[in-house]
Amino acid sequence: MNHSPYLLYSDGKGNIFEDTSLYAVGRAGWDAFPIDINDWILLPDGGNLYELPGRKGIGIDVETGEMRLCEKGWAVAAFIPPAHTGLFIAAYETAEDAPTLPLFCYTAAGWYNGNFYVPAVRIEQDIRQECAGYDNVQIKNGADYLIKNYSHNRLVKHLMDNCCNTYNCPAARNFAMGRWECPVPSSPACNANCIGCISFQPEEETIVSTQDRLTFKPTAEEIVEFTVPHLMNAPYPIISFGQGCEGEPLLMWETIRESIIEIRKHTDKGSININTNGSKPDAVKALCEAGLNSIRVSTNSARKEIYTKYYRPNNYQFEDIIESLKVVNSYGGWTSINYFVFPGMTDSVEEYEALRKLIKETNLSMIQWRNFNIDPDWYLGQIGVTETGEMMGVKQLQDLIREEFPNLKFGYFNPPIERIKGNYEVDFAH
Ligand code: SF4
Repeated sequence: MNHSPYLLYSDGKGNIFEDTSLYAVGRAGWDAFPIDINDWILLPDGGNLYELPGRKGIGIDVETGEMRLCEKGWAVAAFIPPAHTGLFIAAYETAEDAPTLPLFCYTAAGWYNGNFYVPAVRIEQDIRQECAGYDNVQIKNGADYLIKNYSHNRLVKHLMDNCCNTYNCPAARNFAMGRWECPVPSSPACNANCIGCISFQPEEETIVSTQDRLTFKPTAEEIVEFTVPHLMNAPYPIISFGQGCEGEPLLMWETIRESIIEIRKHTDKGSININTNGSKPDAVKALCEAGLNSIRVSTNSARKEIYTKYYRPNNYQFEDIIESLKVVNSYGGWTSINYFVFPGMTDSVEEYEALRKLIKETNLSMIQWRNFNIDPDWYLGQIGVTETGEMMGVKQLQDLIREEFPNLKFGYFNPPIERIKGNYEVDFAH
């Protein structure tokens, strides 16, 4: 690449154009920055482009080198597919009456030599959510088989009717294809009130949740019935409690414990994981006693104050999520954070210091560097951040953490037991 990609804009009717008078730039926090040409990669397969209503893109004038607005249309951003971490948000100026953007990530995007580019890194080699790997015929046959053979099982019905066939959930589609990570939602309720909750948004909010929250409490029998065959027959099998279509699974810990105990009577294959807000360390201890193999605790920050302003927890606090990680570590389990990456916040010097402290304190196994699916202005406004402080860049942050903690794994997905117990660099491409 011998110059930065050109800025993209839309005509507001779904048509996207390049503006060859402006080079694309990126946003971190509240500010726009030029992007190193080495940070741009081709928009990966499965990525999407969004036009951003009521927003004008910011770029660098090809002639003058000055930063200015693109007056030709609306700003454009990219939704980059799983396994990739965005390094910069799309840079734009938002009009007063612009609508809040829905719960997706808005990575910078540009046009170069006939292709779309994004500033991002592939952070995970596991191919489980490569869109090219999904076979719709196999998925339909698998879903039909599961619905027919588990016709009395409310959870299988939810996973196939809603998650697989309506939301196109990649995890539910993998379950229908009989492979890898199988989702096990269980909780209709939650003890947090995340601003960007993907399964519940208050009436007064203008944006909607990307999926509806589970409406029933599955029984241990319903859970065990389909998870045992999955663990016994799927390649690199994982079952994961805690999904985007539910509240907090730890509120169902007794049912989950009962399920794990019963599952392990039938098979010791695979990994039993829980994706959670980590709010109840005592419940986590009971699940470890029962046989839990790994935990993934979601967080937007390693700083208590930033966490609390976003999660708005009921009857728990930031220290509890740290304790939950420590508990699983003490049982020899795998511990990950589901780290919502927001350029300007995640790579601030303050956050870096807090993250180092969290990794040391919990002896963390892995960071899953996830793109934060939220309207950037809305997020910073809601948590009251007007100044993000000194920042170093997401790439440099990752390099510093990798250097200081060489055993800490970077990725995007919960690893199977073959990676946890065996050769972590398993070749998934076969
Ligand atoms: S912890 Fe999960 S389910 Fe609960 S409010 Fe946050 S995003 Fe929603």
